[in-house]
Amino acid sequence: MNSAARSPTVPGPPLLGYEEAAALVAAYAAGLGGLRRAAERVDLASALGRVLAQDLCADRDQPPFTRSTRDGFACRAAEASAHAFLRLAGASRAGDAPAGPLPPGTAWEIMTGAPVPLGADAVAMIEHVEIVGAKVRLLPPRALEPGENIVPQGAQAHAGDELLAAGGVIHPQQIALAATCGYAALDVYMRPRVAILATGDELVPVEAEPAAGQIRNSNAPMLAAMVAASGGEPWILPRAADHAKALDAALAQAAQADLLVISGGVSAGKFDLVEPALARMGASFHFTGVKIQPGKPLVFGELPKGRGASKEKSREKLRAVPFFGLPGNPVSSAVTFLLFAAPVLAALGGSMGPGTRFALARLKSASDKHGKPGLTRFLPAHCDFGGTIPEVELVPWQGSGDLAALARSNCFLVVPEEAHRLEAGSIVRILLAS
Ligand code: AMP
Ligand code: MG
Repeated sequence: MNSAARSPTVPGPPLLGYEEAAALVAAYAAGLGGLRRAAERVDLASALGRVLAQDLCADRDQPPFTRSTRDGFACRAAEASAHAFLRLAGASRAGDAPAGPLPPGTAWEIMTGAPVPLGADAVAMIEHVEIVGAKVRLLPPRALEPGENIVPQGAQAHAGDELLAAGGVIHPQQIALAATCGYAALDVYMRPRVAILATGDELVPVEAEPAAGQIRNSNAPMLAAMVAASGGEPWILPRAADHAKALDAALAQAAQADLLVISGGVSAGKFDLVEPALARMGASFHFTGVKIQPGKPLVFGELPKGRGASKEKSREKLRAVPFFGLPGNPVSSAVTFLLFAAPVLAALGGSMGPGTRFALARLKSASDKHGKPGLTRFLPAHCDFGGTIPEVELVPWQGSGDLAALARSNCFLVVPEEAHRLEAGSIVRILLAS
C-alpha cells in the first residue's frame, strides 16, 4: 500500500489488471474478518437479508421423533414382506404423541408427519396395501425394507448441533431453520453505514428541474439502492461541487461512515479533484485505476485511523475507513461498485460470502465489439434465467452514460482481456447486477 506522503496530485500506484485488483480487494475484505462488530437482536420476521451474528444450534433432535413421510401403515418390514394380513392395532395422526409398542403381527395406521410407533421399522404406503376390515397386508410382489418411508429421530440434526455459523446471510431457508429451532429473534450484525457522496457541478437533485447543461444526480439513489442490496445502510450526502473546499468539507463529514463511496471527479479532467482532496486528508491509495472498461479510473484506499470514528458507541472506533472513488458515468459507477465496493461492504457487515456474484450463461449472439485491447470489459447485458440454461445477450448501448441501456440490463457480460471475439453459443461469465 502506498502512503499518502506523495504529491497530492498523483496520489496512487499505477493501473492494476482486473484480476490483480479483484485479488487485492478480496484480500482486503478477508482481512476485515476479525473486526469487532456491534450486533442487534431482531425479530425473525425482520431478519431477512441480515448477517447472523450468532451461531444457530438445534434445540432438540431433528426430526424430534421418528416420523412417517407417508400416509400408510407402520409395521415391521419383515412381517409386511411376508404378505400375511396384519391386524390394525391403532392409529396416529400428525401431532399425536409417539405410541407403541407395536404388538407382533400388527400394523398401525399412520399419517404423514406422525410419530412412528415404537417397534415399527417401516411404513407401507397406503397405495401399496390391501385393507380388509381391520386387517391390512402389503400387496405382493412388493417388499418393504426396514427404514422405508420413515426418518429416524435425530437423522437431520442432534440437539446442540451447530446448524448455521455466524457470518451467514439470512435467506428464507435460514428463517425456516431458525423457526424450527425456536429462535423467535436472532442476533444480527449492525449494518455498516455507507456514505454516498456524488460530486459534480452539473448535478441537481432528482426533485429539481435541471437548467441547461445540468443533469439529475442519478448515481446517489442508484448507489444507495446497491448499498442496501449489499447489506449496508446508505447515507446520502448532499452533492459536492467540483471545488477543493467543498470537497474537503464533504469528505470530512463522509469520513464518519464505515465506508465511503464517492462518485465522479476521479478521472484526469481539470475538475477531477477527488483524489487530491482524499490525499489532503491523509489517504492511502491501494490503487488509482484498474484495466477495465467501463470504470478504469476507479480509486480504492483508506482514510487513516481515527478519521472515521463515529460518535455512536455501537460502532467500531479508531479504524481506517475504506473508500472507493467511482467514475461518475452511471454504468461505470454501477460496474465498479458491484465489482469492488460490494465485497468490501459485505465483509464490513460481517458476511462470509464474496459480496459479488458471477454466473455462467450461454451467449445468444456472437460479440466482437470489444474496444481497446488489454482491458477486461463488463458490458451491459440481459440474461434470461427462465430456460434450462441461462442465456445472455448484450444490450445495445451508447457508452457508459447510457442509463436507459443500464435499466434494460440485469447483468454484465465479462469479456476477458485477451478475448477478440465471443462466439454465439459459447459459455460466458456474467456479473450479476442484483
Ligand atoms: P466524472 O467521473 O465526474 O468525470 O463524470 C463522468 C460523467 O458522468 C459526466 O458526464 C457526468 O456528468 C456524469 N455523472 C457524474 N456524476 C453523476 C451522477 N451522480 N449522476 C449521473 N451522472 C453523473
Ligand atoms: Mg465530474
